Amino acid sequence: MSTTVNAYSAAAADRPLAPTTIERRDPGPHDVVIDIAYAGICHSDIHTARGEWGRTSYPVVPGHEIAGTVAAVGSDVSRYAVGDRVGVGCFVDSCRECDACRQGLEQYCERGMIGTYNAVGRDGLPTQGGYSTAIVVDENYVCGIPDGLALDVAAPLLCAGITLYSPLRHWRAGPGTKVAVVGLGGLGHVGVKIAHAMGAEVTVLSQSLKKMEDGLRLGADHYFATSDPDTFRALRKNFDLILNTVSANLDMAKYLGMLKLDGTLVELGLPERPIEVPAFAVTAARRSLAGSNIGGIAETQEMLDFCAEHGIGAEIEVISADQINEAYERVVASDVRYRFVIDASTF
Ligand code: NAP
Ligand code: ZN
Ligand code: ZN
Repeated sequence: MSTTVNAYSAAAADRPLAPTTIERRDPGPHDVVIDIAYAGICHSDIHTARGEWGRTSYPVVPGHEIAGTVAAVGSDVSRYAVGDRVGVGCFVDSCRECDACRQGLEQYCERGMIGTYNAVGRDGLPTQGGYSTAIVVDENYVCGIPDGLALDVAAPLLCAGITLYSPLRHWRAGPGTKVAVVGLGGLGHVGVKIAHAMGAEVTVLSQSLKKMEDGLRLGADHYFATSDPDTFRALRKNFDLILNTVSANLDMAKYLGMLKLDGTLVELGLPERPIEVPAFAVTAARRSLAGSNIGGIAETQEMLDFCAEHGIGAEIEVISADQINEAYERVVASDVRYRFVIDASTF
């Protein structure tokens, strides 16, 4: 009925991740069995493993930036065949019937998407993520990884890539638009690459100038340090679109002040505490404060195809499973250039 596979899990909020085994169901008619090659470390994995959002069911196997190869398929699977290179992102199912699901916006499923980990699957069992050697997922929630993209640099696109691609498309970034990316981390660095490939004028707003050379190489036209108060004066009413990827709370009035008339700041980071916004910061220039959550399956496929066409992968540091806890510390300290990816053969 199931297969035992190696994984890494957190047993409690204050415990380091440790080796374990988990059960993966035998493939149903529409299931794809994926041999995982690489799993990216998203900051959301850390928020969840450490219980920072207050709703983690332990033990939890994190990981929602999954790239691998199809090892077996169920009897009715039509989209994928054994040997195909595939990816899985932040969710593995949704109701498939609500307006959002019908529009291909499964991430906004009205009944709630089923997360790749820390959720309950249709079978009533907890879902467990990509820090493991294999995963079984319904074919409708699997994306194909184009030949031009190596699996290791593709893995982070399944969360970081789509989280930036979707708002860039929704708010129509392109030639003639000025886009700022706040935070040059896992999300931010792919955002810079994608926004540049879409033709936008891209500015990085980082805490310091330490990563400036990288930022410009990745495609930014401008780079500013937010630790310098002059930055906010120099860039007042400058941007059409600001994408905030920071995992901590920022002084939102200062960032909103950099939006032009009718500009939009899209909140992508998910800090523990609520965001505080003075009303004048939005009313002063008819500004919008918006949010965005990953992307649907069709858009994730579109993003992967776009990245392959433009030669975009994540900048990664490949680690073995026994380095996960150390990697978590480094992500929290903003000491990663720019995404840790775990070699799944080491689980
Ligand atoms: P990350 O790699 O840690 O990047 C976050 C970046 O924010 C850091 O590299 C740093 O960039 C900046 N930063 C960190 N602490 C800061 C502080 N105290 N003040 C100012 N800047 C700070 O994390 P990530 O994986 O990109 O994820 C970022 C956030 O997005 C997390 O909260 C995550 O849960 C969330 N997320 C949301 C979605 C979604 O769909 N909305 C999807 C995935 C992740 P600099 O060093 O350049 O300043
Ligand atoms: Zn993520
Ligand atoms: Zn739905």
